[in-house]
Amino acid sequence: MRDVRMRGFAERADVEEVERFLAGRAKPLGREDVAAVSCTGRILAGAVDSPADVPAFDRSAMDGYAVRGADTFGASSYDPIRLALVGVSLPGRPCTTPVGEGEAVRIMTGAPLPPGADAVVMAEVCEEEDGRVELRDAVSPRKNVGAVGEDLRRGDRLLSAGRRLRPQDAALLASVGIGAVPCVRRPLVRLVVTGDELLPAGAAPEGVKIVDSNSVMLRGLVERDGGVPLPFELLPDDPAAIRAALAAGDADVVLVSGGSSVGQEDHAPRLVAELGRLDFHGISMRPSSPTGIGRLGPGPDGPDHERFVFLLPGNPVSCLCAYEFFAGPTIRALGGRRRDWPHPRVKLPLARKISSSLGRTDYVRVAIEDGQVVPLATSGASILSSTVRADGVVIVPRDTEGYPEWAEVEVRLYDETSEEHAPRAPGRRAPAGSGPVGGIQ
Ligand code: AMP
Ligand code: MG
Repeated sequence: MRDVRMRGFAERADVEEVERFLAGRAKPLGREDVAAVSCTGRILAGAVDSPADVPAFDRSAMDGYAVRGADTFGASSYDPIRLALVGVSLPGRPCTTPVGEGEAVRIMTGAPLPPGADAVVMAEVCEEEDGRVELRDAVSPRKNVGAVGEDLRRGDRLLSAGRRLRPQDAALLASVGIGAVPCVRRPLVRLVVTGDELLPAGAAPEGVKIVDSNSVMLRGLVERDGGVPLPFELLPDDPAAIRAALAAGDADVVLVSGGSSVGQEDHAPRLVAELGRLDFHGISMRPSSPTGIGRLGPGPDGPDHERFVFLLPGNPVSCLCAYEFFAGPTIRALGGRRRDWPHPRVKLPLARKISSSLGRTDYVRVAIEDGQVVPLATSGASILSSTVRADGVVIVPRDTEGYPEWAEVEVRLYDETSEEHAPRAPGRRAPAGSGPVGGIQ
């Protein structure tokens, strides 16, 4: 392998080529049983059928009186019918006395229909007095009764494989007595955070040391995408320490932060090539061009699932961008989710042109102001606060030189809702619409 350190990349791969490569290889991991009470948000690995009829017994859909429908024919407010009250049926406390001809049982919503009864008259059209009930309305048989299996029959398909389980899905599983369901295993993600200059998050920056912020961001992104970040330690730019971290086979995905480029202390690309394969190094994009992507041999699921390794540049914006393009879709796919970016999208006119270069994919941070898309002027790859000021990003694909002013562009929003845009971070703020787009990447 050519040592790229202090020389630079001879050639760069296209974003689409890398995306295709990953899409072809990242397949859902194995399954594990997850308790129904905590399966919300998980991805179902196999179909689930109902083991029971719902409802399991004929039950009342109303507060009222259980009757034989035939006894009520002809009842009206002018000509009420009187029935003898012979019992009470409550949810969980059924009435075992059968309802005979000319008889009724007081019944509450959800309570079992007593034997002999076939309909329920709602309380609003009844009057109870001296052990008798007067009905001012007729009901046909089955009226106001939830019959056995009316909602679901035993064997009915409840949920299909691949579904992202909603709270009400989990509730339905619990309601039919299913204790656990097979879900796609969540990808385990090892963070390998490198840099002699780093202090752990929680410390204050001191002298020439900076605080590791990438791991804080990456943990949030991994969790957003359904992965599980494993505990980690900061590593110095020391090949032996980085090699040992890469060699640990306990994760499905390894995210290396920093040391991915062509600097003197950028060891990770060579180490990945030695331990496994470095499939890509150097990608035609801005920021994040020094990104590397490779594989490190079998992961926890064995030889069918090689461990993916993503060499993410240390500059925070590059780290975020490389994660979003390559690591995020891979983690989602391993977890059985859709590869697509999870960001909500809006189309709005551009307040100022965006310039790019043919052959390069750009990740442009933008703010939305008065319904217009404003590219942020301070957009260097090291400017973490630009991603906080931004409402989202515009992707300029490889075959485009950019977008002119007033072009309709698609913004991928950082926030869940498209209507609201969080107040921007305090601090100095370049006036929107001023200055060039771009900067040192
Ligand atoms: P590198 O990719 O190692 O060349 O780092 C590029 C820049 O990102 C340098 O200014 C580093 O100090 C900075 N950097 C590296 N790792 C981190 C990190 N974990 N958190 C924040 N900044 C970082
Ligand atoms: Mg470094």
